[in-house]
Amino acid sequence: MTERRPLETAEAQSPECTRAPIGMLAELTYRCPLQCPYCSNPLEMDRVNTELSTTEWQDVMRQAGELGVLQLHLSGGEPTVRHDLEEILEAAVKADLYTNLITSGVTLTRERLERMVKIGLDHVQLSIHDVDPANAEHISAYKGGAEKKHAVAGWVKELGLPLTINVVVHRQNIENLDAIIAYAVEVGAGRLEVAHTQYYAWALKNRAALIPTREQFYRSVEITNAAKERLKGILVFDVVAHDHYAVRPKPCMRGWGRSLVDVTPSGKVLPCHACEMIPGLEIDTVREKSLADIWFNGQAFQKFRGTEWMKEPCRSCERREIDWGGCRCQALAVTGDAMNTDPACALSPWHKEFAAIAEKESREPPPPYIYRRMGSGGGTSDRRE
Ligand code: SF4
Ligand code: SF4
Repeated sequence: MTERRPLETAEAQSPECTRAPIGMLAELTYRCPLQCPYCSNPLEMDRVNTELSTTEWQDVMRQAGELGVLQLHLSGGEPTVRHDLEEILEAAVKADLYTNLITSGVTLTRERLERMVKIGLDHVQLSIHDVDPANAEHISAYKGGAEKKHAVAGWVKELGLPLTINVVVHRQNIENLDAIIAYAVEVGAGRLEVAHTQYYAWALKNRAALIPTREQFYRSVEITNAAKERLKGILVFDVVAHDHYAVRPKPCMRGWGRSLVDVTPSGKVLPCHACEMIPGLEIDTVREKSLADIWFNGQAFQKFRGTEWMKEPCRSCERREIDWGGCRCQALAVTGDAMNTDPACALSPWHKEFAAIAEKESREPPPPYIYRRMGSGGGTSDRRE
């Protein structure tokens, strides 16, 4: 991949940001045949008829290349439900982006994957729900998914692409983590993303059904750390930590408006895929402005970029340029103000209460899932653990 500089014509007006995003998440559609109760898509999803057209997405890819974006994550919803995925991919390859397809695999065919490999697809990230097929079906509300995903993993390897397995971890699959790690090795993945559930959007609605106990979480950390040692040179681990039992927060989005940009199905350009819930953010779209102009100068990007916006205790904290105060959406959801310190931080006045919610809910019987459904407010399941 060639080294690129940010688009020189899009002058950065902010001293906080003079460089391009490293990665772009292109949420091609919110349509998806699965109904995961932890889905990070918004509760109110864009309708199909508002989705960017093929040519609009192709233009976004061209603009991303010119801006200096290096990695493109083709995501959703389920990106393969877009019949023009290959055409969008082609534009991305032409723009010299490293392309990663993030898929649940259930709607993918071997022929289609082969076509995408020929076009220049670089990487596949395949999500699984559990190694127990019945539990996987229950979590995703989709029959036969486990078998199909196993086949897709095989095709990815046969076609010579690097494979990442992604699993969202919660109380209803955490006890199978050892077996999930073994599964990733068995299918030939080079990377396993162990993503502890992040409690916003659908996961916040389903928090009591998903949240593990502190002991379960600590045990999962031990399992992951042991596997990292054991599988050195075979499997790389990416871990997204659980927040309620944390002491310090994660640098959410690697810092607001610093490394990542998200484009939604209707072309909204966001610093974080969950941030539309934050009041007072002016969200720009690629239908009205250029990607570069929005990245450098958009109000939503400027709002929490850098450290100037911070209140105490973040403002004077030595970690303020390490974790950037954590997650704005979680600060809003728990404290009512997105400017506050993420409650995952033990220095937040809300941290004790935040941890106590997890302690309580994780020890009660799980309620039924509220499944992710477009426009229905979600459907429920039978209880199951
Ligand atoms: S989390 Fe599940 S429901 Fe949401 S987009 Fe991914 S596969 Fe579909
Ligand atoms: S106070 Fe703020 S900057 Fe300091 S560790 Fe906590 S979240 Fe990070």
